[in-house]
Amino acid sequence: MPSEFSLIARHFTRPTANTVLGVGDDCAIVAPRAGYELLVSSDMLVAGTHFLPDTDPARLGWKTAAVNISDIAAMGAQPRWMTLALSLSAPDEPWIAALAQGFADCCAAFGVDWIGGDTTRGPLNLCATVFGEAPAGRAIRRSGARAGDDIWVSGWPGLAALGLKHLLEGTPLNGDWRDTCIEALERPQPRVALGLALNGMASAMLDVSDGLAGDLAHILERSGCGAELEDAALPLGPALAACNDARLARQCVLGGGDDYELLFTAPPALREAIAALVPGLGLPISRIGRCLAEPGLNLKHRDGSVAPLAITGFDHFA
Ligand code: ADP
Ligand code: MG
Repeated sequence: MPSEFSLIARHFTRPTANTVLGVGDDCAIVAPRAGYELLVSSDMLVAGTHFLPDTDPARLGWKTAAVNISDIAAMGAQPRWMTLALSLSAPDEPWIAALAQGFADCCAAFGVDWIGGDTTRGPLNLCATVFGEAPAGRAIRRSGARAGDDIWVSGWPGLAALGLKHLLEGTPLNGDWRDTCIEALERPQPRVALGLALNGMASAMLDVSDGLAGDLAHILERSGCGAELEDAALPLGPALAACNDARLARQCVLGGGDDYELLFTAPPALREAIAALVPGLGLPISRIGRCLAEPGLNLKHRDGSVAPLAITGFDHFA
């Protein structure tokens, strides 16, 4: 196995565009813009828990960066810098090169400088930390939802969960949808442009990593309100087209993890302004329910009946 230092020099040292000092010293140096706050988030990907050990390394690198960038998008902020701490058992250098390239490609796609990290020997584990910027006081928190606000979700939640079910259990997927679902799982697209556009509009926001219903419950808890989702308004179409199974599609849309779509709330007065973002972003946004003063999360079925929503999110320790 090549030395730690040659790995760093060959694969982990990348040009930077917005950084005072990148890889090579004891610390990197960055200069946030005046009047902005720094946002920091870490996400760890553990082999066997967060990804299948035989995952394509370039896609794994991409996903490690993407899930971190998604957390900055979820605050309506601009991602700017990233570090990657990794432990490797004894993988070959082409594998490491592909991992580093995938990670660097995702950083570059979202204007993020890869500015440092740590490299050690151990069970395969990838931990990235992302740094972002938002105008002071303007980052969108989970706590701002109010009774009467609409609830929105971007894109096609549920496809990543279908991709995982296909890989793990052989769940059949139709034609081109198979690749779309696996792409959603292995090469998620953080919704940075949408997050930035919602700054000043969304009252609360998060990225859906553990399932739409469970993650919505986090917003409700922090905001001290309840919600009613409308089954007829859920973006079920693509998941249904992929698997031809209405029950499974609904379960994946409401409970599937790894989507990295943005789930947010906003006052009804902003409906038109939010819908007007869609053409520019090339990304659908669905209005799926509303916040209520009474606590709890309910689903309004197509026959008009309302019942508590049983689906909860993923919990590593449950
Ligand atoms: P130290 O011993 O001071 O912690 P290291 O030898 O661990 O420094 O790292 C040397 C330089 O290489 C540092 O700038 C560090 O940020 C960078 N580096 C180490 N591993 C990585 C990595 N996986 N990705 C990017 N930079 C890395
Ligand atoms: Mg040092």
